[in-house]
Amino acid sequence: MDFKLSEEQQMIVDVAARLAEESEEDERILELERGELANSLLEKLSRLGFAGMTLSEEYGGQGSSNLDGVLFLEQLAGKCPTLAGIFHEANFGPIRQIDCFGSYFLKKKYIPMTCEGRGLISIGMTEPEAGSALTDLKTTAKLRNGQYIVNGQKRFISGAGVSESYLVFVRLSEEKGAKGIGTIVVDKDAEGLSFGKRERMMGHNTIPQRDMIFDNTRVPAENLVLKAGEFSKAMLCFDIERLGNGTISLGIAKGALEHSIRYSQERYQFGRPICEFQAVQLMLADMTMMVEAARLLIYRAACNSGRSYPGRLETSVAKCYANEIAKRVSDLALEVHGGYGYSSEYPIERMVRDSRGWAIAGGTPQMQRIGIVSGLLGRRFEQRR
Ligand SMILES: Cc1cc2nc3c(=O)[nH]c(=O)nc-3n(C[C@H](O)[C@H](O)[C@H](O)COP(=O)(O)OP(=O)(O)OC[C@H]3O[C@@H](n4cnc5c(N)ncnc54)[C@H](O)[C@@H]3O)c2cc1C
Repeated sequence: MDFKLSEEQQMIVDVAARLAEESEEDERILELERGELANSLLEKLSRLGFAGMTLSEEYGGQGSSNLDGVLFLEQLAGKCPTLAGIFHEANFGPIRQIDCFGSYFLKKKYIPMTCEGRGLISIGMTEPEAGSALTDLKTTAKLRNGQYIVNGQKRFISGAGVSESYLVFVRLSEEKGAKGIGTIVVDKDAEGLSFGKRERMMGHNTIPQRDMIFDNTRVPAENLVLKAGEFSKAMLCFDIERLGNGTISLGIAKGALEHSIRYSQERYQFGRPICEFQAVQLMLADMTMMVEAARLLIYRAACNSGRSYPGRLETSVAKCYANEIAKRVSDLALEVHGGYGYSSEYPIERMVRDSRGWAIAGGTPQMQRIGIVSGLLGRRFEQRR
């Protein structure tokens, strides 16, 4: 076991840290204007060669490990939430399902699109009546004359209306529950697809969420990724997404801690920098312990997975812990910053808001805990009975 980064890994961290530093001011303006994630940011990542860092080399990616992707993402997340969100989608998002299980046709079409910065693929799972209970989803895809006809509605889809394509979880057969579910890629301009109004969320102001409405939406048959009965493969790939999600939470917590360390030395009260007050020191110490512990859990899950899917238990522990501590650490950072922490002129209040969203997306902390106990006891706990 070696806790040191290699020279190459340190280079990844340094490049990402520089990019985050350079992009921080643009991000602040985007957030204040409540702008939307722009394709220009994906192009920027692509120009630097990081849009498809973890995707397969034969289709234009760099073939890097999950750990390399995690190292890069952690640096972005503390300073540039939008850029981090885009990097996450391009390297840990649904494109990885296409990379793992897609046909040659789908890989050839969508992986270069991501790597060359031409467009992102978002994930469409949640429905108005199927959130944590994903296998209750009702959106159907029926094969008719060589194409799928999709009907239904998806909710809270990040990037909806902006992303070029969507990996949509659909019911492909009459079989109930997970057995009837598969996945299909739907392009933004598909006939019969429309998007709802942008949700007004507490955070994630630059990554829009919208409904997707499928009204006899026509999708070519070759866009099928996983057929009915292959839901467990979809969930294997979703562990990659959850690893990325946890990494963003880790990055937010790290960013909040770094701001607090700096601020506590610059801010004077009672004629002394506030870092000299024990109450502030205790907050900094607690924040440090939480960030360090989350980092170890995330790195372990990433390291043990190479370029494949991480273990379910390790990922659930890492995601859940990183989500929880990002909420706690950003909250403590707000206290260290006093009134300035509450002001939108400073990045802390955004971290408080964004950390809540990442904890819900990708499965709530309660659902992660259920998964953890399942893994611990080696049993599945049926939630419906
Ligand atoms: C910022 C953001 C971005 C998102 N992006 C996407 C996206 O890109 N694509 C997508 O498909 N979805 C996305 N979502 C949706 C997200 O995945 C769901 O909101 C999440 O899975 C929870 O579903 P729900 O909101 O329906 O809550 P519910 O499932 O209704 O849960 C409500 C509460 O009940 C609890 N609960 C439910 N069932 C159980 C149980 N069996 N045991 C214990 N507690 C339980 C939950 O933990 C929660 O506390 C996003 C959400 C947010 C906030």
